[in-house]
Amino acid sequence: MPHSSRLLLVCAALAPILLFACGGSAATPKSAVGGSTSPALVSTNVPAEDAAPPAAQTGGFDGARAYDQVAKLVAFGPHPPDSPTIRAVQGYIRSQLAGFGCAVSVDDFHAQTPIGTLAMENIAARIPGTGPGIILLLTHYDTLRLDNFVGAEDSGSSTGLMLELARVLCKAKRGANAVWIAFLDGEEAQVVVNGQAQWTDSDSVYGSRELSAQLALSGDLKRVRAVILADMIGQKHLRITREANSTKWLANLVWSTAAHLGYKDVFVSQEIEAIDDDHGPFLRRGVAAVDLIDLNDYQAQGYWHTPQDTLDKISPRSLAIVGHVVLASVNALQEKFH
Ligand SMILES: [Zn+2]
Repeated sequence: MPHSSRLLLVCAALAPILLFACGGSAATPKSAVGGSTSPALVSTNVPAEDAAPPAAQTGGFDGARAYDQVAKLVAFGPHPPDSPTIRAVQGYIRSQLAGFGCAVSVDDFHAQTPIGTLAMENIAARIPGTGPGIILLLTHYDTLRLDNFVGAEDSGSSTGLMLELARVLCKAKRGANAVWIAFLDGEEAQVVVNGQAQWTDSDSVYGSRELSAQLALSGDLKRVRAVILADMIGQKHLRITREANSTKWLANLVWSTAAHLGYKDVFVSQEIEAIDDDHGPFLRRGVAAVDLIDLNDYQAQGYWHTPQDTLDKISPRSLAIVGHVVLASVNALQEKFH
């Protein structure tokens, strides 16, 4: 990669990672009331074929709750990095995680971007394990810097998914490995020309580069057994193909888990070309990582990176299936790295 040296542009050490436990002081916006015990409401409006199965059928993961999280994230409106709206989203994520009883770590940092220095924030739920290993789950929560872009699929779907996974996992019995669920800022390119993101190695994945650098500095990176990234996984008629850069054994584990659960129609065996995404900085540091993404279908329909990326494109059933597969894959990894 010609731009790998530009990792240094992310100010890795500007702010020490701040750890605070359950009950942190994050603000909850009025639109976001209702924590871990409130019933799912919004998802009652979706067509029957997109309804999520009962949580008991998907390993305890509640697709209706995940969908409600997507709806809440969309309701904040566009939230590109260093905007008043993303600060409200950050408060929402932190308060949801604290409400689920998760230990929460926050890393505030400054990224040098082509449009200036931007304040960014990575947030992580850290579920301890009985041994030293870490299973790392990733999503980004920033939206593309585009007028009227709310990003229901990109990045609402995977953020809603990870919030629901945190609800389930933070109250679950400890496994051999810790599970850290990281909500990353600044995945998108900040330069957008005529509605087109100008993605480059140096203007993208700021949060992931920051997190991987921080974990390398702290020594925790060598404890990471596997990284599972979700990005654009809530759309109707979801078809997740195998992304070419992803680590083979880890992709095999996820896809065989999905097949075992009866989801071969969603986790299809076809391999697609490599996609640059938040798993890249971890792969480049030698960490096994897989990207769960259905970019091509969404792009073909004309919704990707357009103001048409809205809540009506999202299916609670798709979220439930991916949530079930990620939960079962985490269990398989817990067994593998016992
Ligand atoms: Zn995007």
